[in-house]
Amino acid sequence: MTDSPFGWAIVGTGIHGSFLVRTMVEDLGISPGSIVAFDPHSEPLALWRRRSRNIMMTHLRSPASHGLHTDFRTIRRFATARGRTDFTLPYHRPSAELFDDHARTVLADTWSRVARRVESVRAVFPVSGGYVLSGESTEATAKRVILAPGQPAPRVPEWAAAGGVSIPHIYDDGFDVSRFLTASSAAIVGGGLGAVTLAVTAAERGCKTTLITRDPRTVHYFDSDPGYIGPRCGPRFAAIRRCRDRRELIRAARRTGSVPPDAEQRLTAAIRAGAVSEVRDEVVDRVNAPGRVELIGRSGRYGPFERVVLATGFADAPPAGALIRQIARATGARLAPDGFPLVDESLQWTMDLYVSGALAELTVGPPARNIIGAHLAARRMFGAYPSSTSSSSCEA
Ligand SMILES: Cc1cc2nc3c(=O)[nH]c(=O)nc-3n(C[C@H](O)[C@H](O)[C@H](O)COP(=O)(O)OP(=O)(O)OC[C@H]3O[C@@H](n4cnc5c(N)ncnc54)[C@H](O)[C@@H]3O)c2cc1C
Repeated sequence: MTDSPFGWAIVGTGIHGSFLVRTMVEDLGISPGSIVAFDPHSEPLALWRRRSRNIMMTHLRSPASHGLHTDFRTIRRFATARGRTDFTLPYHRPSAELFDDHARTVLADTWSRVARRVESVRAVFPVSGGYVLSGESTEATAKRVILAPGQPAPRVPEWAAAGGVSIPHIYDDGFDVSRFLTASSAAIVGGGLGAVTLAVTAAERGCKTTLITRDPRTVHYFDSDPGYIGPRCGPRFAAIRRCRDRRELIRAARRTGSVPPDAEQRLTAAIRAGAVSEVRDEVVDRVNAPGRVELIGRSGRYGPFERVVLATGFADAPPAGALIRQIARATGARLAPDGFPLVDESLQWTMDLYVSGALAELTVGPPARNIIGAHLAARRMFGAYPSSTSSSSCEA
């Protein structure tokens, strides 16, 4: 079934899709009836909520100014009006619950007026005056499209995917953290914030927990260098012409696998108390026995453990890769050598088709995936972004 054309179609109702839709409706006066949004999750932000719950995240890593409203003060005001003080210092990082309560409140009216299709977009084809978005069971036509499909798939090492029972990843759809936390012994493979938070929580619940990390952990307040949000480092990124050089800078500035000081302190205390063991090794294989898994590293064998989970972050690939490749084929839109879209300064990839989040990384820079990345994307798409942070599309 094809409906009459919408003005806008949004792919993804996560942090970025929700921020952009709220901005369009509430700040730019775009009629909510002219927007359609696709996402397989029945509630906006459902994936964000599940992932933060799966790592038992207590507070956000970003400051309270990074919320789902264009006004940077709204989370603080929301908390004050309700007598809430659930921030952690410095930077007033809101609790996950406060962030969520605020998000529900600022998004409720917008989402109640926008058409949502609870399905994935499988393909997008150009047609006269716009695009047809093909979902799992419906189609919609829209003049303009914004792709905000979030993160790439969780990174699963070969040893964990091969043979026997697969080892779950903390960001898998089916990962059941409550069940994981009832184990008497568990190993967490990976060393970033997700791994550390889950390890400490499991240990607090009486689970004998082993954290197996390949690389030494680094400690930073934020998971990407905040200098790239504005004029301190933005122009340095903008001055880089070749995509592969931008990608290299993004990798260095994204601080993947780092943790903020409070998480490091919690882990250190748990290790000192003997509640968590930390092993520095790279896991290369596993041996399954009934109800038990033994892990084989380059320098030793570990376990057996009742439960093992991967906390190995996300793959080095564009999110919604199959859809991105299909759109590139259908429209002739250009891809960088790493498969990410080559977009212009307004994040337009091809005529009236825009991207946000990780897909916009080669133009927005290191903060593109974060909450603040949605603010930066909105400024670029809808105008009024500061020239100091602007940059042209890079060259393949
Ligand atoms: C546990 C965790 C904690 C984080 N904490 C912070 C933090 O404190 N501060 C910060 O700035 N950043 C943080 N981040 C990073 C980032 O802000 C989040 O990953 C955020 O969710 C990114 O927003 P997004 O909209 O790009 O992705 P998501 O919120 O994941 O939303 C993407 C949506 O797109 C949908 N989708 C994908 N493909 C399709 C398709 N083909 N059709 C339709 N829909 C599709 C998905 O179902 C999903 O609902 C965190 C990330 C994680 C995983």
